[in-house]
Amino acid sequence: MMGGATARVPAKINLHLGVGPLRDDGFHELSTLYCALSLYDEVTVRAADDLSVTVRGESRRQVPADATNLAARAVVALATHAGTDPRVAITIAKNIPVAGGMAGGSADAAGALVAAARLWRLDITRDELLAIAADLGSDVPFSVVGGAALGTGRGERLLPVLHRGELHWVLAVAGTGLSTPDVYREIDRLRARDEDQPTAAGTARPDPLLQALASGDVHAVAPLLHNDLQPAALSLQPMLRRTLRAGREAGALAGIVSGSGPTCAFLCADADAAVSVAAELSGSGVAKAVRTASGPVPGARLVPIN
Ligand code: ATP
Repeated sequence: MMGGATARVPAKINLHLGVGPLRDDGFHELSTLYCALSLYDEVTVRAADDLSVTVRGESRRQVPADATNLAARAVVALATHAGTDPRVAITIAKNIPVAGGMAGGSADAAGALVAAARLWRLDITRDELLAIAADLGSDVPFSVVGGAALGTGRGERLLPVLHRGELHWVLAVAGTGLSTPDVYREIDRLRARDEDQPTAAGTARPDPLLQALASGDVHAVAPLLHNDLQPAALSLQPMLRRTLRAGREAGALAGIVSGSGPTCAFLCADADAAVSVAAELSGSGVAKAVRTASGPVPGARLVPIN
């Protein structure tokens, strides 16, 4: 079809999220290991008379359908860079939990960049695209790249990571989201009270986890999952402790809060184990929705327009 392009973009979890000191620019210095999962949004852009956003899916009401949508901001940023007219109709098929710590907004921004670059037939290098992505948000470059990658700075500086095999996950999606800035404010508050310092990983590189990923041994990966933001997310949503316990009792090898939460991610021994953990977790009533996913998977990719 003329005049349109669609990109499919994965959600992410952080296998390791180390939070360092607060920087002068208001961001924290991070050391994180991103992993893209097989849970996707699809972003379609079509030539139009106005810039518009339409969101489809169960959670559409939680997502702004105006110029503040991160996908719309991405299109405008790319058009400005390229000296192009930004007027396109953006349609987002939303599957990634909103405000779930899975980079849903960042995924849509990455999808919009890739789809609009195709629509406008832009001659843009990957580095230029990644620079625009980094200006839009710390997780947007990773949503473009996907796979497994080490993120430093505020998470936008990426190094691809060697990994073998597929990891199988169960995701427990909470009924109420958490705002990422609120969770960072809470970690600052807890740290000022000196409550979570003993377990904090900070900006150290997670070398044992990198080795475990390269070996492809899920049993080596499981005990090394770590999230410095978890105490802050648990402090804001104490019932997540129950969710984490329920996942482990259902047979997961390990469970962590994903990014800033409140989605909890459970690593399972294999695909069959993930199905059985998901079934048991669904029955336990601790989550609004339970999904299975695997990863690492590639980042934003063009797909046939639907
Ligand atoms: P991260 O993991 O990157 O911290 P998140 O997954 O916790 O983010 P998002 O789903 O990206 O959170 O949504 C955060 C907020 O951003 C939402 O509450 C919503 O109001 C706003 N937002 C703007 N654009 C989008 C979009 N395309 N999809 C989802 N949320 C969006």
